[in-house]
Parts: sequence; structure tokens; C-alpha cells
Amino acid sequence: MGKKFDVIIVGGGPAGSTCAYYLAKSGAKVALFDDSHPREKPCGGGVPKRFFDDFEVPEHVPSRVIDWIIVEDQHGHMVKLPQKFGGVTIMRRDFDHSLFLKAKKSGAVCIEERVISVQEKDGWIVKTGKGTYECDLLVGADGYPSLVRRTIMGEIPRKQLALAAGYHIPHDTVHMKKRFEDAIELYFLGEPYVKTGYVWIFPKLDYVTVGMGTALGSKNIKRSLDRFVRTHPAARRIIMPDKVDLHSHMIPLANSPRFFDLPTSGKNWVLIGDSAGHVNPITGEGIYYAMMGGKLAAKAYLEGDVKKYERYWRKEYGGDMYWGSRLKNFFYKPKVIDIAIEIGKRSDTMRDILADVIASRVSYDRLIFAKIPVSLAKIIFEVTVSLLKKK
Ligand SMILES: Cc1cc2nc3c(=O)[nH]c(=O)nc-3n(C[C@H](O)[C@H](O)[C@H](O)COP(=O)(O)OP(=O)(O)OC[C@H]3O[C@@H](n4cnc5c(N)ncnc54)[C@H](O)[C@@H]3O)c2cc1C
Repeated sequence: MGKKFDVIIVGGGPAGSTCAYYLAKSGAKVALFDDSHPREKPCGGGVPKRFFDDFEVPEHVPSRVIDWIIVEDQHGHMVKLPQKFGGVTIMRRDFDHSLFLKAKKSGAVCIEERVISVQEKDGWIVKTGKGTYECDLLVGADGYPSLVRRTIMGEIPRKQLALAAGYHIPHDTVHMKKRFEDAIELYFLGEPYVKTGYVWIFPKLDYVTVGMGTALGSKNIKRSLDRFVRTHPAARRIIMPDKVDLHSHMIPLANSPRFFDLPTSGKNWVLIGDSAGHVNPITGEGIYYAMMGGKLAAKAYLEGDVKKYERYWRKEYGGDMYWGSRLKNFFYKPKVIDIAIEIGKRSDTMRDILADVIASRVSYDRLIFAKIPVSLAKIIFEVTVSLLKKK
């Protein structure tokens, strides 16, 4: 028989480490499996600043405070949005490793081995290349593609996935602020760069990340991203080294709200983060949902009924998931982006709304039913009519 735990968490990314931290802190006997730390992960690394407080992220994690969000459409029209409540960019190598160590410090047993199989048998039997372990509750926090999810309910369907790729480029810290103004930049360019999705430039402390997220089956993502880096004026500030690796990864980006009706827990298992498909379907933001999902799964377990997690996550951020998947195709229409940027140029209120949406400070369901001030409604009407006439 293997070593026995109350809970085994497979995957020590933001979801798994956060879940382990809350469980261990409350006295549960928890094991966290991940053989990858410290490691970089393909990611823009943009997170809201309040994360550092809400989740007590260790202060020593290097980060860059972001003051602005720049959004540009396919015609080169640009709007600069104030990042009022602050955001930061981080390197996942530092961020994820610090969360992993924090879970360990709180009492979780961190086992740096890769899980090769999980089997349900009076609880669960979890095997790695080195040993066999047992537990009552199994937590799938192993991202995409998740071994735990595959074993319990099959893969996330391809239709609900997208592809993201990027370069992390070392940059001297001295010229960083001058070149990139402490702003994250999003380019909704359409053809020939990217049909659905966007290109981002995120300055970090001593790196710049340039990347692209797009639908599966779109054009070769490397070719499209390289075209941006070579030809787009915004990319002139990026000094590409002779040799730099492209990192790419699939990311759950649901196209249908029905995907979120699938179960994410059973009597002795739960899925959190990317393994549950909990990524904002419009922006591709996933770190917040991974950490919040981990916290809520721990709460449900500690209350004695892990299935409460279903209710908890839907209440906390289900609006973003369901409405994001409904609105995604509308939002990515080039005309809609053109109109939003044009309105943003004329209205402070619209700039605040756009900043809130991009930084996930307001949930889509609340936004849809929010009252719009008359002055903004007037601008929306004028801009929409004039841009539609131009067509
Ligand atoms: C290119 C790109 C850019 C992105 N940019 C952003 C961004 O700017 N902001 C944002 O909020 N989100 C972003 N995301 C999304 C974000 O990266 C994910 O949503 C987030 O990492 C999910 O966290 P997680 O803990 O669920 O999974 P992961 O971070 O994927 O962690 C899973 C962990 O499980 C481990 N693991 C996997 N299988 C096993 C196994 N069998 N045994 C043991 N361990 C295992 C892995 O080593 C890994 O450490 C981006 C994604 C991509 C691909």
C-alpha cells in the first residue's frame, strides 16, 4: 500500500499550489505533485495587482507595476486606458515557484514527481515513476492536457480550445520604462496577422513578452507572430536576439456556454484551473480563476462536501465564463473593436469600462445589465452610425 493522504493534488501551478495552501493551512493532510519547478511557463504573465494582497503572494516575487493598457485596432487606431487599480506583470518561473514554496511552508507535502496514472479504488491510487500513493480526494490541477480530467471524463473538446504562443525576450531594465511606458499593449489586428484573437506586448521587470492567441486551426501561429515582430511598427522597440525560443501552449477558451455545464467535481474528485477549462473565454486570462478555483475547492472540501465547489465557482466567476463564451464571437468582430476604440477615444466613461473589462474587474453579466449614462449612450449611437455608414 502507498503512503496515504486526505487529498492529493496533481499539478503545482497557480491552481494546485493555492488549493494546497488553503487545505494544509487548515490541517488537512495534503500532497502536491509537480516535477517541473522552477520553470518558465508560456504566459503573458499579466495579473491584477490585488492578487498580491488577496492571495498573499510572497512580496519578493519580481513584478512590474502596469499603469496603462493600450489597445489598437486593425487600422492603427489606438486608445490608452488608465489602469486605475493597478496591474502587474510577472514571470511565471518566479510567481509559480513562490506559490509552490508557500504551499510547502503551510504544511503541504510537495512531491517533485510526475504523476503517470490515477485510478479510483476505495478512494484513489496515484502512481508516479517512483512510488504509489493513496488519497480520499483527488484534485486535478494539471492544466491542459490534464491527466486527471482525461481519466475521469475525457479531454476538453477541441472546439473549446485555442492556441497561444510567444517569445520572452530579455531586456535591460534601464530603458524598459522609456520604451514601453509601463503599459501592456493589445493589438486586435485581423488579417493578415491574426483572424480571431490578438497580439500582446507585455513588459516585465527585465523581459518583454510578445505573443499571440488565436483560434485552433488558424494560420501557422509562428509565421503570423513573426510577421508581426518583423513588420508592425509597435514591434520596432523589441530587439530580438539571434536565438530565442518560441513557446506555445493550448489554452481552454470555451466557445459555448454549455461547456461550463459539464461537472467539475464528483464525490471524491475535483477539477480546478485550466483542467476545469476555467479561462476567461474572451481575454484568455486564467491565473486569477485558477487561484480562486483552488481556494473555493479547498473551502468546499473543508466544509465536508466537495460538490459545493460547483455552486461556489459559478457564483464567484461563472458569469465571466458563461457570458464570455456567449459574447466571444461578437466581441472579436473587427467592426465591434473599431467602434469600442473610437468611443473610448471620446469618452472617459468608456475608457474606464474598457479598462475594467480587459483587467477583468467587472464581470460580463454585470456589465451587460449595467445602466449606461445618457452622455455615453449618445456617443455610442453617433459613433456606431458613422462607422457603419463608412462601410
Ligand atoms: C501563451 C499564454 C499566455 C497567457 N497569458 C496569460 C496572462 O497574461 N494572464 C493570465 O491570467 N493568464 C494567462 N494565460 C493563462 C494561464 O497561463 C493559465 O490559465 C494558468 O496557468 C492556469 O493555471 P493552472 O494552475 O490551472 O495550470 P498550469 O499553470 O498549467 O499548471 C499546471 C501544472 O501541473 C503540472 N503537471 C501537469 N501534469 C502533471 C502530472 N502528470 N504530474 C505532476 N504535475 C503535472 C505542470 O508541470 C504545471 O506546473 C496564458 C496562457 C498561455 C498559453
